[in-house]
Amino acid sequence: MEYPFEKYRSTSRDKEAFLKLLPNVSAALPEYFRALSVAHHSIEQKNMFNQPQGIRQSTGLTSSLNLLLVAMVNDRVIGVNADLVKFIDALRILVLKWYSFGNDLKACVYFGYYYYTHKSASEHEVRQQLDAIRFLVDESSRVSEDTGILQLMKPPNSRRWYAAESHIGDKLYPLTVQAGDFARVDLPRPAYQVSFKASQLFDLRVPITLTDQELERPEISHGKAIVSCPSCGQKCRIDVYKRMEIKCPTCHQVWTQST
Ligand SMILES: [Zn+2]
Repeated sequence: MEYPFEKYRSTSRDKEAFLKLLPNVSAALPEYFRALSVAHHSIEQKNMFNQPQGIRQSTGLTSSLNLLLVAMVNDRVIGVNADLVKFIDALRILVLKWYSFGNDLKACVYFGYYYYTHKSASEHEVRQQLDAIRFLVDESSRVSEDTGILQLMKPPNSRRWYAAESHIGDKLYPLTVQAGDFARVDLPRPAYQVSFKASQLFDLRVPITLTDQELERPEISHGKAIVSCPSCGQKCRIDVYKRMEIKCPTCHQVWTQST
């Protein structure tokens, strides 16, 4: 099976910048990847229904995640008081970036399995660890304003998505998630939760959660729909086709959507 993010690669310049600007994170990631890769066995071992047997953790995974979270705060890729969702999103971006330098695919697959499909277990784990590390780091530590670091942490996705009949899609990046791989949830607040339960494709380029503000559900009637520009929010009334390329009359942003 080929995973949709499998060919995702960064430049060697990006790698140099990463090693230089994020020294603690760079030192912590190899051990985290090693532990994720070991835990990947729990996906390979299928039960009689051909489903993975569940999560198999190792102590190595817990301690390496702990070191990585501390490193993230010390390298200021995230502020120590950021919320859980932001920490997990930053983890996702770092793991994908580290992979894009030519590191282990299995580690990423397990990361996706744990954080998308077993969301509550993984959130519980990160929450517990954050409670513990907040005593270990400088409490006033904030996210860096260094443009190099911001560039490295730029996600491979936007937060401007649309819902179509049987998938959700990113308006600005060529990313889609099919029905069965996401679900609508009402708690703790209305959102779309990506699980990759059906396809098990674990596309790490896709955010784990999209709130209602981030995902538009255009109403279609008489072949027309109202959609909003992902850059300036301008509402546009459009003719509906299977696949549409739309240009904003106000800011000229071009984006694509399908139905
Ligand atoms: Zn616009």
